[in-house]
Amino acid sequence: MRFVDLHSHSTASDGTLGPGEVVRAAKAAGLSALALTDHDTVAGCAEAQEVAAEVGIDFLCGIEISCEFPRPGTLHLLGYGVDPTSPTLHDLTRRLIEGRTARNHRMIALLREAGMDVTLDELLAEAAGGTVGRPHLAAILIRKGYATDNADAFKRYLGQGGRFYVDKETTSSRQAIDMVHQAGGIAVLAHPVQLRRDNYAQLKTVIKNLVDQGLDGLEVYHSDHRESLIQELLEVAEGWGLVATGGSDFHGSAKPHIRLGMAGRRRVPETVYHDVLAAIERRRHRPTGVLGRV
Ligand code: AMP
Ligand code: ZN
Ligand code: FE
Ligand code: FE
Repeated sequence: MRFVDLHSHSTASDGTLGPGEVVRAAKAAGLSALALTDHDTVAGCAEAQEVAAEVGIDFLCGIEISCEFPRPGTLHLLGYGVDPTSPTLHDLTRRLIEGRTARNHRMIALLREAGMDVTLDELLAEAAGGTVGRPHLAAILIRKGYATDNADAFKRYLGQGGRFYVDKETTSSRQAIDMVHQAGGIAVLAHPVQLRRDNYAQLKTVIKNLVDQGLDGLEVYHSDHRESLIQELLEVAEGWGLVATGGSDFHGSAKPHIRLGMAGRRRVPETVYHDVLAAIERRRHRPTGVLGRV
């Protein structure tokens, strides 16, 4: 059996390998297909696509979009098969990245007010031109001895409830789903466990709401998902005709416990990749927007 990974990050956001390097790592891990899903950007897709063609592995351009959702949960949407040159998508990513810029200024100001020696230039250098995220700030705090490790940096400083936590501008799930569709892709709910609902009934209510907004799929296999949740999500996906997807959420050495191609203890069969391609085809033959859904 062949395996794939449909959730990965590169230096275009907060991963530590370049887009081409992620593709080469996927090839070296024996995977037959990879999707790159950087936060709020498709900037890595062109390079990844090129290297994929060179080394002989299937590649799918993706994106992971942070959406509005009540704390303490987070709602991330994966867009698969989006056209990286889509103007609609560019409008959205530009707005999200502007929101991140405002948040970066704010977080650095708070850190400095607290007497910590961290500058915006250092943060931008850490992100090396990619989408700036809290993991970049965490790396600086660890290097300078303000935090012992990533978990410590998030718990005390950067996570929800942390001393220097700042909300970033996000988009509504409805808008993100619409824009992914307009860019030719399908919208998949990433790691549903991170919605942090208390029980399956609550989880299903959130998912149903997203289905009504046009959601196409559910990320069933993920590094944070236990077997019981996987079984539940498979049933939910089947019940509502959603495509079941999966991936590791690889970030390179930023999350050293995650290995490319491994969704926790599971691997993701190649059939999942073909199901995603089929869902993209079906979606492209349907009209988008509100009228398309009634
Ligand atoms: P950002 O895009 O700046 O909001 O940061 C999101 C990234 O931070 C994702 O890769 C998360 O996995 C990571 N992250 C969020 N919360 C935590 C946490 N409590 N501990 C470690 N990493 C986290
Ligand atoms: Zn990330
Ligand atoms: Fe995510
Ligand atoms: Fe991710």
